[in-house]
Amino acid sequence: GEFTTEVDTVVIGAGPGGYVAAIRAAQLGQKVTIIDKGNLGGVCLNVGCIPSKALISASHRFEHAQESQDMGITAENVSIDFSKLQEWKGSVVNKLTSGVAGLLKANKVDIVEGEALFVEKDEIRVNHGYESSRFKFKNCIIATGSSPIEIPSFKWSDRVISSTGALALKEVPKKMVVIGGGYIGVELGSAFAGFGTEVTILEGSKSILPAFDKKMVALVKKRLKKKGVTIHTEAMAQGVEETKDGVTVKAEINGKEEAFDADYVLVTVGRRPNTDELNLDMAGIETTDRGLIKVDKQCKTNVDGIYAIGDIVPGAALAHKASYEGKIAAEAISGEPSEVDYIGIPAVVFSDPELATVGLSEEEAKEQGYEVKVGQFPFAANGRALSLNDTDGFMRLVTRKEDGLLLGAQIAGSGASDMIAELGLAIEAGMTAEDIALTIHAHPTLGEIAMEAAEVALGTPIHIA
Ligand code: FAD
Repeated sequence: GEFTTEVDTVVIGAGPGGYVAAIRAAQLGQKVTIIDKGNLGGVCLNVGCIPSKALISASHRFEHAQESQDMGITAENVSIDFSKLQEWKGSVVNKLTSGVAGLLKANKVDIVEGEALFVEKDEIRVNHGYESSRFKFKNCIIATGSSPIEIPSFKWSDRVISSTGALALKEVPKKMVVIGGGYIGVELGSAFAGFGTEVTILEGSKSILPAFDKKMVALVKKRLKKKGVTIHTEAMAQGVEETKDGVTVKAEINGKEEAFDADYVLVTVGRRPNTDELNLDMAGIETTDRGLIKVDKQCKTNVDGIYAIGDIVPGAALAHKASYEGKIAAEAISGEPSEVDYIGIPAVVFSDPELATVGLSEEEAKEQGYEVKVGQFPFAANGRALSLNDTDGFMRLVTRKEDGLLLGAQIAGSGASDMIAELGLAIEAGMTAEDIALTIHAHPTLGEIAMEAAEVALGTPIHIA
């Protein structure tokens, strides 16, 4: 028979949601077992955030090496050894995933390899190869994440690839079609374009990055164009034919059938929750129509003792949301009154230039009934941006008119991904435009843009008239 182990807390999935939950639960005195059928670190560390950002930063370096003529620098014969780049990317991933293993062990979390499924309200079975074992738990945190959606007319193959396939390519493709202009398609399309791939993005809606402000997206579109990327919007991908050494993608654009030849087609049209194999019914766990697990403010499902976090629950499918929820769930099962509050959750696109937002946009604030005062400041008026030769972009602060309370911030420009943290903190702390304006920011830094945008909101800017 199967061997049954009794545990306090079992965490299913060791992505940025699960491993963080496991560590926090252990810190709070629980005996924790974490189960993953794949690699520690989940999508984020292995085939998501980290490897994609590694490729993007390499792509930027490669472009910059060739594009510094304004500064009097010319470089000839700049080349990439793509297999060396992949090796380096792999080493970054390995450092982080072995770091996760070390942290789990240091916190005395038991790591079990295998695929978990529910057999009872308080028991899971874990299959590993031909063997299986059971774990009876007091508390369970489900953190099984998500997978790329496969469209029936684009079955995965060597040439029809998901983000995972794109990150693992062994060569720089000559041509690539990207289906879907969301953040993953734009980030990867942009990275490969930087390496020299001729990229065509087919986006079904009216614009790429439809969730972002038009003025921010315009900057990204301008750079994509400069990199030679062609964007077709309101383009409906119809199907793909594999040729001897590539693909032909058929799409309907403005009612006209068009065909695109490429080496690869990257399909990034969204992700679906990994619930299929979990046997949620055996524990009576409720899901939404999209298959996401329903949870309350403590990340608890409808079943006592069972929690769910990350991409498997509704909300933004982002690593930092998964980790945040992981801490809340671990604290909740340890008896603390922790609850989620997403007011300060940032969203970043590592496009060129980067886009980052936190809190409310001007439109959202107005829809919610706020009278607002907006302060916008251009990168072009910032000394650091000029000295970096990177002046495209702006920061916009949305404040409440009556008292200057910061409601939201949007940044498009170099360094946006790091700069957004200050504004998230300001929102969390309930700060006003005056607080930001009175904070002394080191000169010359991009960070000064926040101080200047706050001054604009207050009507007293120094560096723009
Ligand atoms: P996952 O990371 O998906 O981990 C789930 C884990 O559960 C996996 O390890 C899996 O093996 C395991 N598992 C699943 N089912 C079972 C089972 N039945 N039994 C045992 N184990 C199981 N987010 C950002 O915030 N910033 C970014 O820059 C960013 N870039 C991205 C780039 C790409 C190309 C992609 C694809 C995603 C990116 N994301 C980014 C999203 C981010 O990766 C996810 O939001 C995050 O990984 C979700 O974490 P999670 O813990 O919910 O699940």
